[in-house]
Amino acid sequence: MSVVVEFFGTGTSHGIPVIGCDCPTCASSDSRDTRLRTSTLIREDERRIAVDTGPEFRLQMLRAAVPALDAVLYTHSHADHMNGIDDLRIFCYDKPFPVYGSKGTIDDLLVRFPYVVSAHSKYHGDGLPHLDVNVLNPGIPVEIAGFQVVPVPIVHGGLVAFGYRIGGFAYLTDCNFIPEESYFLLEGLDVVVLDGLRFTSHPTHFSISQAIEAANRIGASRTYLTHISHDAGLHADIEKKLPSGICLAYDGLILECSS
Ligand SMILES: [Zn+2]
Ligand SMILES: [Zn+2]
Ligand SMILES: [Zn+2]
Repeated sequence: MSVVVEFFGTGTSHGIPVIGCDCPTCASSDSRDTRLRTSTLIREDERRIAVDTGPEFRLQMLRAAVPALDAVLYTHSHADHMNGIDDLRIFCYDKPFPVYGSKGTIDDLLVRFPYVVSAHSKYHGDGLPHLDVNVLNPGIPVEIAGFQVVPVPIVHGGLVAFGYRIGGFAYLTDCNFIPEESYFLLEGLDVVVLDGLRFTSHPTHFSISQAIEAANRIGASRTYLTHISHDAGLHADIEKKLPSGICLAYDGLILECSS
């Protein structure tokens, strides 16, 4: 058994290129230097889960030719991970669409997008998403769309975000610290995806050297860095500086992971 992971977006909150920036990364002709906001798709057979719905969610679904979706896992409520939420309405024509997150994430979601749970009598044609919002508990596995999903608490500045583990794959974007108890949830991984914003430090994201340190501790067979800033430089240059077993993700990258 294996899950397939497709990187929808691997850029930090501004995306790359950044509006109005003419730095070498933003001007690069290497397609791997164009990064939409961070999101990913996890699939096995005909079952599909998206992690986050950023501002380019619709474009990402079209680009990957995804015909259907079973659920969305939210890592946290920042705009670059949630602001495409309205485009879930295509999946709500005859029943509410299930989304999941921590209590804090779902509370924020309902403050920012209260209309997604409006009790409208007809689903079809009212122009609104109709979501079935579900709170997950840290570290407690739950079955979603036939996948065994483990929410992994991670620290992202002043908030606790969730990473998610599905089988031998774990996805930990947007974090600057992994709590001790979360490392126990990350044992025996085939692939881990970690935040790796840039080389210099940042108060809410791992720098690349901090991500390497965490990757070494986790000890997955393969590590991919995501949520990349234009400040990190060119994809080709960054990769040369990474130790073996650690790679830089890019938009459209597809991986197969043992479950
Ligand atoms: Zn982010
Ligand atoms: Zn730039
Ligand atoms: Zn964030």
